Amino acid sequence: MKDISDIHGHLIAGEWQRGDDSRPNVNPSDTRDIIGLYACAGRDEVDRAVGAARAAFQTWAFSGPQARHELLDAVGTELLTRKDEIGRLLAREEGKTLPEAIGETARAGQVFKFFAGEALRVTGDVQQSVRPGIDVEVSREPVGVIALITPWNFPIAIPAWKIAPALAYGNCVVLKPAELTPGCAHVIAQLLHKHGCPPGVFSMVMGSGSVVGDALVSHPDVDAVSFTGSAATGSRIASTCGGLRRKVQLEMGGKNPMVVMDDADLKTAVQACLNGSFFSTGQRCTASSRLIVQAGIHDAFVQELARQMRALRVGDALQGDTQIGPVVDERQLASNLEYVELARREASEVIGGERLDLAAPGFYQAPALFLGTKNDARINREEIFGPCATVIRVDDFDEALAVANDTDFGLSAGICTSSLKQATLFRRKVEAGMVMVNLPTAGVDYHVPFGGRKGSSFGPREQGRYAAEFYTVTKTTYQSA
Ligand code: NAP
Repeated sequence: MKDISDIHGHLIAGEWQRGDDSRPNVNPSDTRDIIGLYACAGRDEVDRAVGAARAAFQTWAFSGPQARHELLDAVGTELLTRKDEIGRLLAREEGKTLPEAIGETARAGQVFKFFAGEALRVTGDVQQSVRPGIDVEVSREPVGVIALITPWNFPIAIPAWKIAPALAYGNCVVLKPAELTPGCAHVIAQLLHKHGCPPGVFSMVMGSGSVVGDALVSHPDVDAVSFTGSAATGSRIASTCGGLRRKVQLEMGGKNPMVVMDDADLKTAVQACLNGSFFSTGQRCTASSRLIVQAGIHDAFVQELARQMRALRVGDALQGDTQIGPVVDERQLASNLEYVELARREASEVIGGERLDLAAPGFYQAPALFLGTKNDARINREEIFGPCATVIRVDDFDEALAVANDTDFGLSAGICTSSLKQATLFRRKVEAGMVMVNLPTAGVDYHVPFGGRKGSSFGPREQGRYAAEFYTVTKTTYQSA
């Protein structure tokens, strides 16, 4: 029987509330390890959280930047100070390796620090009117109550890069983290609470997307929704928000191309693809999932990449020598294995990809390379979201660029080449929100915009000062002397 005192509660109106229902947070490296019980909300909790946010909004919106700066700075400092301990929790609940998890926690701290600064730099614009004797001022104001819905694959960085700008610009927030990884979001809630976030300014309700997520997105008192997750869920949320004429920002999946040209440095190209395709168990929206390789370098590249991929150590996320942690859960693993089966029909050769039975019961999979594939195959059209990459052979730069752009997605795209001309043409012509030259498609800075094109994103960019586009509304004021 559950001990109610052990349940990690929701944070609503400045109070921890446990409710009647909870679910275990399970370590994917070792399913015998239950990290904790986390409360599951229903529509009532969502109502209370949104009501508290609405009640707090007028005061917070006019509280001035100093209080916001201090709150975000304090949370950022504590995340950075405690990055090893919180990173360990992240590795336990999500399954990325300890160094990756500590790095993600530090990133969350840096994001809070960045937006602590941005809170002090909200600027406007004073212009002369075309009518003599009138002043025109364009100012930025907070949007209101913002619902944030986040996925499991970056359980601390993504909540951070939504919460921090939302609060910095004077909004009130209700966060629903992914049901699979509530632990890190719970830590952020604890820190905001501890460092004096006023009741209702930040609330967190945990639970399923179909109940809690849906209740938030369609709640009449929510002004805007920022979502990161799959394209399918994003489309549903876009329809709901469109019908309600509600501001919405969607960051969704990818099928990111990495082009390797004949003149690429082989070592650089292999490292970029090994990292981009398989690190973080391939569970990154920016993962290099289609490797588009020119004929002259193809065989040497594939041979070396396959050799290094086979040597990657798959294991418990907390073990020091692990390079690839487990897949996040049984459902995702089953989906990955279905794609491996599909690849046996669609590719000329499949290397790796099998389920691994290690000492501890977990969701382990060997990284996989699918060779000899065509870009119109399902394995090249659909996001797999696991440690799997396809290889597509092309003859020249024009074909590589055409294949790179022949996708419904447009998040990140990369090229490995020593030619300035090819790198420049690729940067200009590739249809993606982020372009990488001689770098993995994954791995970005926190002070510049993040986001994609086509089916990968909808609405204004996240991160950096561009985040102001979503988290503020402009007001144009005319004043006669
Ligand atoms: P998901 O299944 O779409 O879930 C994302 C979030 O939406 C979760 O909190 C989920 O709740 C919630 N949700 C599900 N159904 C909902 C509904 N009807 N209404 C409102 N909310 C709902 O995605 P995921 O599997 O967690 O994450 C993987 C996906 O995220 C991949 O496609 C990946 O590419 C994408 N991603 C994109 C970016 C980016 O910035 N572009 C970054 C990271 C990940 P539950 O807790 O019930 O699942």
